[in-house]
Amino acid sequence: LYLDAPLAEGNEVDAAPGQAHHIGTVLRRSPGDAVRVFNARDGEFEARIEAIRKDRGRFALGPRCRAPGEEPEVRLLLAVLKRDPMDWVVEKATELGATLIQPVVTRRTIAERTKAERLGAVARGAAEQCERLSVPDVRDALPLHRVLDSWDGAPLVVAMERSLAQPLRALPAGRPIALLVGPEGGFEAAELDDLRRRPFVVPAALGPRILRAETAAVAGLAALQAIVGD
Ligand code: SAM
Repeated sequence: LYLDAPLAEGNEVDAAPGQAHHIGTVLRRSPGDAVRVFNARDGEFEARIEAIRKDRGRFALGPRCRAPGEEPEVRLLLAVLKRDPMDWVVEKATELGATLIQPVVTRRTIAERTKAERLGAVARGAAEQCERLSVPDVRDALPLHRVLDSWDGAPLVVAMERSLAQPLRALPAGRPIALLVGPEGGFEAAELDDLRRRPFVVPAALGPRILRAETAAVAGLAALQAIVGD
């Protein structure tokens, strides 16, 4: 169970309302039952349910069972997709170790907004399921050019189809690293020209087939993790 509160042995901490509902009603846990709670700052702790109601839960923390650790910074920039594929990408990107998920609005992006709060909840659920201590930082959507104009220079692997790029074989050393995936309709020519002019952009093809944007996001992250991940 991911909890933002400071965690330490002997502390009592409260669950958020949605979490209390999930534990009490969906998982049917009761006072006295054992759970584990975690966050990236403090690590993971054994805990006991002190009280659980529909909208509130309280836990008593026991010993720490996992210390917090460093994880390589891997960012995902993704043109905003429709709700279901967006949720799916956030879930899979969390499993694949993305530390930041930045939805971007490109010229051919259909939807222009995301619900960072809902996507954050998807990421928390995925982190709990895959036993990851940290939860990716899921941001509100921004225009692509704004993200690029304020970029910190970290290598940005831009997923482009085979006619536009070479396969991804090696990456510059050092972290952070990032992946950018375009919308269902792809990038416009002017966007591709702009991307190629940026010194931090690494154009990369992910095989000879045209992937759906959500597939490209997951395949690209898996490829990055295979090269730079721990
Ligand atoms: N018809 C579109 C086009 O002409 O660009 C296809 C876009 S594709 C469905 C959506 C995004 O997935 C692309 O913008 C690109 O970022 C990524 N993508 C799809 N297939 C890819 C591949 N084989 N290699 C790298 N990126 C790919």
